Amino acid sequence: MICQYGCGKEATHQFKNGKWCCSKIPSMCSVLKKNLSKIKKGKPSHWAGIKRGPQTENHKKKIKEAKALIEFCQTSLAKVDNDVNDFLHNC
Ligand SMILES: [Zn+2]
Repeated sequence: MICQYGCGKEATHQFKNGKWCCSKIPSMCSVLKKNLSKIKKGKPSHWAGIKRGPQTENHKKKIKEAKALIEFCQTSLAKVDNDVNDFLHNC
């Protein structure tokens, strides 16, 4: 069985959603890790590309919220019943 997230490694662990992965820790899989880092970069494009001066309090707050969301995603991944990619997409 090959990791069903597309990293090409041999799967050693099956998640509760029925998918096989190369690791029981989602962040150890290079493909899942990539998805998580995409979230980390932040989807709203206005975050990137705009050169600002010192970070505003609101900006700091948003980063804090994003970090909490990433942690939530990482700890919840093994528990979700739906496809993990869909789950990540909805985050
Ligand atoms: Zn993998």
